[in-house]
Amino acid sequence: MTIKDIAKKVFLIEIFKGMALTLRMMFTHAVTRQYPEERREPFPGFRGLHALVRNPDGKARCVGCGLCAAICPSQCINIYTSESKDHKKVVDRYEIEVLRCVYCAFCVEACPFGAVVLTPHFEYSDYSRDALYMDKEKLLSNWDKFMTGKRAEEYFERFWRPKLEDFTTPENQPVFRGKEG
Ligand code: SF4
Ligand code: SF4
Repeated sequence: MTIKDIAKKVFLIEIFKGMALTLRMMFTHAVTRQYPEERREPFPGFRGLHALVRNPDGKARCVGCGLCAAICPSQCINIYTSESKDHKKVVDRYEIEVLRCVYCAFCVEACPFGAVVLTPHFEYSDYSRDALYMDKEKLLSNWDKFMTGKRAEEYFERFWRPKLEDFTTPENQPVFRGKEG
């Protein structure tokens, strides 16, 4: 140990430095945000609570293809479908176990129809797991509550929507890109 180190210990230099810093900070403006009184708008494209896109006719856009469930690394998307009388696929149940989600947004990227989104809403908590088990109705109402108007438009245009409007051919779907041949 050098003489300098001994002097530092004897005269409590580090403690005085710390106290000086504390004293200086007492006279500066606080930088802490007083949440929840002071809120900040989440940035566009923030990955919050899930929603299913509702078409203008009021129905879910999801067709039950299952790509989102297949790609989900947490395996927290459950889809149950059946066949209608006119041989069309019907999405009977679409459920997301939100507490298992890691918010990777692979489901959003994989969906060829832009039918599932992550909304900017992050203030959700509950005392029971059931409340955070999102069924189709809850997911559609999340769309109504958190993604109306310009917000939804910006979400797709800036972040997730495939650049071409054609969702029907594989080469225009992000999930198939680079897999041909
Ligand atoms: S964000 Fe990721 S983990 Fe969450 S549901 Fe989508 S694919 Fe699964
Ligand atoms: S990938 Fe899209 S259309 Fe297919 S089941 Fe998932 S949300 Fe529905």
